[in-house]
Amino acid sequence: MTAPGGGATGAAPAAPAFVDLHMHSTASDGSRTPADVVAAAREARLAAIALTDHDTVAGVAAAQEAGARLGVRVVAGVELSAVEGDTETHLLGLHLAHLDEMQERLEAIRVMRVTRAERIVQRLNELGVTITMDDVLEQAKGGAVGRPHVARAMMAHGWVGEFREAFDRYLGFGRPAFVGKERLPMAEAIDMIHRAGGLAVLAHPGESCRRERLESLVALGMDGVEVRHPSHSADEMRRLAALADLLGLLPSGGSDWHGTNERGRAPGMMEVPMAWLVRQDEAVAGRRAAR
Ligand code: AMP
Ligand code: ZN
Ligand code: FE
Ligand code: FE
Repeated sequence: MTAPGGGATGAAPAAPAFVDLHMHSTASDGSRTPADVVAAAREARLAAIALTDHDTVAGVAAAQEAGARLGVRVVAGVELSAVEGDTETHLLGLHLAHLDEMQERLEAIRVMRVTRAERIVQRLNELGVTITMDDVLEQAKGGAVGRPHVARAMMAHGWVGEFREAFDRYLGFGRPAFVGKERLPMAEAIDMIHRAGGLAVLAHPGESCRRERLESLVALGMDGVEVRHPSHSADEMRRLAALADLLGLLPSGGSDWHGTNERGRAPGMMEVPMAWLVRQDEAVAGRRAAR
């Protein structure tokens, strides 16, 4: 509302524009639909988000539609699980352009997730936890199946009291019902993202992130690194920002929100500056012009 004479009354001072470039929806293991994720972003006054579901871009179109309606920009993204040596590493593909092609390439990975979930269910059954694959698929509602769906099925049937407990006792790495994923080599994952016109960004590298490791990833074509993530300490974020600068990696960041507040997460909580997204846009535009 504008007062006579042009002075604004009651209008908040222009808030700094924040973005959130790591969010999940029901297209994978999030609990909110793509449109609801965008609505939550709008509620948090974010200027832009990236929808980065595990191994699928199926939610992107609906999120972009909602974004157009609500005035929130939605960057097309994905989160892939790749391997480096023998550790699973997550990789974000941001600013994807060729979505249909990407979705087709990811189909084999989504099929693998179903087979893996069947093996997890089998292990659980051997441990006396009698949930069924149908219970898990009911939680996944047609989205890319993951361990969180197994955890929710276990909760729904009273096998664990809390989501965390399912991971701590059964599903986490090294626990008795843990089953790893089929391995996608890092170089292939990066290449898949580049072919789709996107930027490859190392997700939540955390403490394990030494300079040498980042250098070897840069040699494979990595474009950026997720500096801001809820799993990083303030010290880690400073160190990662400095390393990104040094190695010419684009900084990125996000809440890794799954639509629940199990781990105290909220849209926009990492206060990622719009300027980081602008730098990513420039890199994408530069690359497309160079073709
Ligand atoms: P998946 O892709 O099936 O291996 O599942 C990975 C997802 O499980 C992550 O994105 C988290 O949402 C969740 N997750 C992994 N580890 C844990 C944990 N220890 N506690 C709670 N959630 C976890
Ligand atoms: Zn997840
Ligand atoms: Fe991740
Ligand atoms: Fe994630």
